[in-house]
Amino acid sequence: MSHSICKNIKQIEQEIGNTQLVVVSKYRSLPELQEVYDCGHRHFGENRVQELTSKYENLPKDIQWHLIGHLQSNKVKYIAPFVYLIHSIDSLKLLKEVDKEGKKHQRVIPFLFQLHIAQEETKFGLSETELLELLQDPEYTSLLQVSCKGLMGMASNTEDINHVKKEFEFLNSLYLKLKDQYNFDTLSMGMSGDYLTAIDAGSTVIRVGSKVFSDH
Ligand SMILES: *Cc1c(COP(=O)(O)O)cnc(C)c1O
Repeated sequence: MSHSICKNIKQIEQEIGNTQLVVVSKYRSLPELQEVYDCGHRHFGENRVQELTSKYENLPKDIQWHLIGHLQSNKVKYIAPFVYLIHSIDSLKLLKEVDKEGKKHQRVIPFLFQLHIAQEETKFGLSETELLELLQDPEYTSLLQVSCKGLMGMASNTEDINHVKKEFEFLNSLYLKLKDQYNFDTLSMGMSGDYLTAIDAGSTVIRVGSKVFSDH
């Protein structure tokens, strides 16, 4: 077991001030997650539903679970009773399923719209145009069991920090345009390699995995 987990978390928290840290615990073992918990940390992020639910069942119930990876409609039911925030909503169809499950469990489920800001084809998410259309869609505005808190995005996987910065700034400007009208308070961007750049560009939540669990 690594003994630097808590040290890493404290160090990151010092760097990021008021920004919320979500520790991305995917692929990590229960003892490693317990170590994060014992360090006082409560926000955990997972990108797969099955892994998230099994960890939920085996760890303390005051952990706040963030689903950060691509979500399939048929998996929504497993996380609906307890998920704290879904970062990865990218279609009306998916959102309708979340709404349906929210009704079943008598809760309003908080979520972020994921925007496609990277150059890579492989990353999920909406374009700006698609988001603006969706926000106006009566089928969307009539949903009562979901609540949009803001936006999420992943920058291109490149060493070119200026390029990454531009992508984050683009997402932040979109966020700021919509924030007041839609009551947004969350902009989720930044991972181990780029969270300081993301924070400079306006991020309110960072999702950090490898840097928390590394040994140096
Ligand atoms: C894995 C993952 C992260 C964390 O990545 P690190 O580089 O390990 O910090 C953040 N966001 C998403 C969506 C991820 O899948």
